[in-house]
Amino acid sequence: MKVLLHICCGICAASVGERLLAEGHNVTGFFSNPNIHPADEYARRLEVAKTVSSWLKIPLVVPEYAPDSWFSETQSLSREPEGGARCAVCFRLRLQSAANYLHNHDFEAFTTTLTVSPHKSAALINKIGAEIAGDKFLERDFKKKDGFKRSNQIARELGLYHQHYCGCLYSLKEAEARRA
Ligand code: SF4
Repeated sequence: MKVLLHICCGICAASVGERLLAEGHNVTGFFSNPNIHPADEYARRLEVAKTVSSWLKIPLVVPEYAPDSWFSETQSLSREPEGGARCAVCFRLRLQSAANYLHNHDFEAFTTTLTVSPHKSAALINKIGAEIAGDKFLERDFKKKDGFKRSNQIARELGLYHQHYCGCLYSLKEAEARRA
Protein backbone atom coordinates (compact mmCIF):
# COMPACT_ATOMS: atom_id res chain seq x y z
CA MET A 1 0.00 0.00 0.00
CA LYS A 2 1.23 3.54 -0.70
CA VAL A 3 1.41 5.04 2.79
CA LEU A 4 2.12 8.59 3.95
CA LEU A 5 3.83 8.42 7.34
CA HIS A 6 3.48 11.46 9.55
CA ILE A 7 6.85 11.71 11.33
CA CYS A 8 6.90 13.45 14.71
CA CYS A 9 10.67 12.97 15.00
CA GLY A 10 13.38 10.95 13.32
CA ILE A 11 14.00 8.63 16.23
CA CYS A 12 10.34 7.57 16.39
CA ALA A 13 10.34 7.17 12.59
CA ALA A 14 13.20 4.68 12.69
CA SER A 15 11.35 1.64 14.03
CA VAL A 16 7.97 2.67 12.59
CA GLY A 17 9.37 3.10 9.09
CA GLU A 18 11.31 -0.13 9.40
CA ARG A 19 8.14 -1.97 10.41
CA LEU A 20 5.96 -0.53 7.64
CA LEU A 21 8.62 -1.32 5.03
CA ALA A 22 8.92 -4.88 6.38
CA GLU A 23 5.16 -5.21 5.89
CA GLY A 24 5.70 -4.37 2.22
CA HIS A 25 4.32 -0.82 2.17
CA ASN A 26 5.61 1.92 -0.08
CA VAL A 27 6.35 4.62 2.52
CA THR A 28 6.82 8.38 2.22
CA GLY A 29 7.65 10.43 5.33
CA PHE A 30 5.82 13.66 6.14
CA PHE A 31 7.45 15.99 8.68
CA SER A 32 4.64 18.29 9.78
CA ASN A 33 5.39 19.61 13.26
CA PRO A 34 4.48 23.28 13.77
CA ASN A 35 4.41 22.54 17.51
CA ILE A 36 8.20 22.37 17.77
CA HIS A 37 9.74 25.35 19.54
CA PRO A 38 12.08 27.15 19.09
CA ALA A 39 13.00 27.26 15.40
CA ASP A 40 16.55 25.98 15.92
CA GLU A 41 15.15 22.93 17.71
CA TYR A 42 12.81 22.41 14.73
CA ALA A 43 15.82 22.55 12.41
CA ARG A 44 17.72 20.05 14.56
CA ARG A 45 14.81 17.58 14.61
CA LEU A 46 14.26 18.01 10.88
CA GLU A 47 17.90 17.08 10.26
CA VAL A 48 17.40 13.88 12.28
CA ALA A 49 14.24 13.08 10.30
CA LYS A 50 16.25 13.54 7.08
CA THR A 51 19.01 11.25 8.35
CA VAL A 52 16.53 8.53 9.29
CA SER A 53 14.62 8.88 6.01
CA SER A 54 17.91 8.35 4.14
CA TRP A 55 18.67 5.35 6.33
CA LEU A 56 15.20 3.93 5.56
CA LYS A 57 15.63 4.93 1.88
CA ILE A 58 12.26 6.69 1.82
CA PRO A 59 11.38 10.16 0.48
CA LEU A 60 10.59 12.88 3.03
CA VAL A 61 8.02 15.63 2.40
CA VAL A 62 8.47 18.77 4.51
CA PRO A 63 5.59 21.25 4.45
CA GLU A 64 6.15 24.85 5.50
CA TYR A 65 6.96 25.31 9.20
CA ALA A 66 4.05 27.39 10.56
CA PRO A 67 4.40 27.75 14.34
CA ASP A 68 2.21 30.88 14.53
CA SER A 69 -0.95 29.00 13.56
CA TRP A 70 -0.09 26.25 16.07
CA PHE A 71 0.29 28.86 18.82
CA SER A 72 -3.01 30.52 17.97
CA GLU A 73 -4.86 27.16 18.08
CA THR A 74 -3.36 26.15 21.44
CA GLN A 75 -2.98 29.48 23.25
CA SER A 76 -6.02 28.95 25.49
CA LEU A 77 -4.57 25.56 26.55
CA SER A 78 -1.13 26.83 27.56
CA ARG A 79 -1.62 25.72 31.17
CA GLU A 80 -2.59 22.16 30.26
CA PRO A 81 -0.06 19.54 31.37
CA GLU A 82 1.66 17.30 28.86
CA GLY A 83 -0.84 14.57 28.02
CA GLY A 84 -3.83 16.90 28.54
CA ALA A 85 -6.28 18.69 26.26
CA ARG A 86 -3.60 20.71 24.43
CA CYS A 87 -1.99 17.51 23.18
CA ALA A 88 -5.25 16.33 21.61
CA VAL A 89 -5.42 19.62 19.65
CA CYS A 90 -1.74 19.27 18.73
CA PHE A 91 -2.25 15.70 17.45
CA ARG A 92 -5.29 16.79 15.43
CA LEU A 93 -3.46 19.69 13.76
CA ARG A 94 -0.59 17.48 12.66
CA LEU A 95 -2.77 14.57 11.53
CA GLN A 96 -5.07 16.96 9.65
CA SER A 97 -2.03 18.33 7.85
CA ALA A 98 -1.09 14.81 6.74
CA ALA A 99 -4.69 14.07 5.69
CA ASN A 100 -4.79 17.25 3.60
CA TYR A 101 -1.58 16.24 1.86
CA LEU A 102 -2.90 12.72 1.25
CA HIS A 103 -6.10 14.05 -0.33
CA ASN A 104 -4.12 16.07 -2.85
CA HIS A 105 -1.60 13.34 -3.69
CA ASP A 106 -1.47 9.75 -4.72
CA PHE A 107 -1.55 7.90 -1.37
CA GLU A 108 -3.89 5.13 -0.25
CA ALA A 109 -3.59 5.72 3.50
CA PHE A 110 -1.66 7.52 6.20
CA THR A 111 -0.53 6.90 9.74
CA THR A 112 1.74 8.48 12.33
CA THR A 113 4.84 7.72 14.35
CA LEU A 114 3.24 9.39 17.39
CA THR A 115 1.95 6.10 18.83
CA VAL A 116 5.45 4.70 19.29
CA SER A 117 5.98 6.97 22.30
CA PRO A 118 5.20 5.40 25.67
CA HIS A 119 4.10 8.89 26.80
CA LYS A 120 1.32 9.17 24.21
CA SER A 121 -2.09 7.49 24.11
CA ALA A 122 -2.46 5.35 20.99
CA ALA A 123 -6.22 5.13 21.69
CA LEU A 124 -6.54 8.93 21.53
CA ILE A 125 -4.30 9.31 18.48
CA ASN A 126 -6.14 6.54 16.61
CA LYS A 127 -9.51 8.05 17.51
CA ILE A 128 -8.46 11.44 16.14
CA GLY A 129 -6.99 9.88 12.99
CA ALA A 130 -10.20 7.93 12.33
CA GLU A 131 -12.34 11.06 12.93
CA ILE A 132 -10.26 12.95 10.38
CA ALA A 133 -9.94 10.34 7.65
CA GLY A 134 -11.97 7.20 8.45
CA ASP A 135 -10.34 4.06 7.07
CA LYS A 136 -7.73 6.12 5.21
CA PHE A 137 -6.03 6.41 8.60
CA LEU A 138 -4.16 3.23 9.58
CA GLU A 139 -4.90 2.72 13.27
CA ARG A 140 -1.77 1.32 14.90
CA ASP A 141 0.06 1.23 18.18
CA PHE A 142 3.72 1.18 17.18
CA LYS A 143 4.98 0.98 20.76
CA LYS A 144 3.83 -2.66 20.79
CA LYS A 145 6.41 -5.37 20.06
CA ASP A 146 9.17 -3.17 21.56
CA GLY A 147 8.78 -0.42 18.93
CA PHE A 148 10.14 2.29 21.23
CA LYS A 149 13.08 0.15 22.30
CA ARG A 150 13.94 -0.58 18.68
CA SER A 151 13.80 3.13 17.78
CA ASN A 152 16.24 3.94 20.55
CA GLN A 153 18.55 1.14 19.50
CA ILE A 154 18.68 2.50 15.94
CA ALA A 155 19.19 6.04 17.29
CA ARG A 156 22.23 4.87 19.26
CA GLU A 157 23.64 3.03 16.24
CA LEU A 158 23.22 6.11 14.04
CA GLY A 159 24.40 8.53 16.77
CA LEU A 160 21.24 10.64 16.49
CA TYR A 161 20.48 13.77 18.49
CA HIS A 162 17.95 12.90 21.23
CA GLN A 163 15.53 15.63 22.30
CA HIS A 164 14.73 16.10 25.98
CA TYR A 165 11.19 17.46 25.76
CA CYS A 166 8.13 16.67 23.69
CA GLY A 167 8.36 19.67 21.39
CA CYS A 168 6.27 22.74 22.20
CA LEU A 169 7.19 25.77 24.30
CA TYR A 170 4.99 24.53 27.14
CA SER A 171 6.60 21.10 27.25
CA LEU A 172 10.02 22.80 27.18
CA LYS A 173 9.03 24.87 30.23
CA GLU A 174 7.76 21.73 31.99
CA ALA A 175 11.04 19.94 31.29
CA GLU A 176 13.05 22.92 32.55
CA ALA A 177 10.94 23.06 35.73
CA ARG A 178 11.56 19.37 36.33
CA ARG A 179 15.31 19.92 35.98
CA ALA A 180 15.38 23.00 38.30
S1 SF4 B 1 3.36 18.40 24.95
FE1 SF4 B 1 3.87 17.49 22.92
S2 SF4 B 1 1.94 16.62 22.11
FE2 SF4 B 1 1.45 18.01 23.82
S3 SF4 B 1 1.03 19.99 22.86
FE3 SF4 B 1 3.19 20.01 23.39
S4 SF4 B 1 4.26 19.25 21.59
FE4 SF4 B 1 2.11 18.73 21.33
